[in-house]
Amino acid sequence: MPVDGTGAYDPQNVFARILRGELPCRKVYEDEYALAFHDIAPKAPIHVLVIPKGAYVSFADFSAQASEAEIAGFIRAVGKVARDLGLEAPGYRLVSNTGIEGGQEVPHFHVHLFGGRPLGAMLP
Ligand code: AMP
Repeated sequence: MPVDGTGAYDPQNVFARILRGELPCRKVYEDEYALAFHDIAPKAPIHVLVIPKGAYVSFADFSAQASEAEIAGFIRAVGKVARDLGLEAPGYRLVSNTGIEGGQEVPHFHVHLFGGRPLGAMLP
């Protein structure tokens, strides 16, 4: 079920629980600003989710409310994960579903990182 990307943060959402160590994940990378782990239902040979450590519902929330340091730290982490996974040369795709019409299902901001095969033209 898509979620409202502008609503209040739900501290019981699945990614908040992963951040607190209450649920497991297949971790790829972690630093002060971000955690990256494999998607549980991968849509490509490499499908990693990168999430900020802070409590942000969506890209809309993160881009408006996060500090410059959090935004910079998060973006740098996404780039590092792609680089460390060997995706820089072949290329990759970043997606952030936002809100109801964006198809967002987990109400903690996340970026999908897809790679490992030719991904074709961008579809809406
Ligand atoms: P979105 O529609 O952008 O909110 O996508 C949420 C993504 O989270 C989906 O691709 C799910 O497969 C993924 N997901 C949900 N629960 C977990 C989990 N426990 N561990 C890893 N990925 C998950």
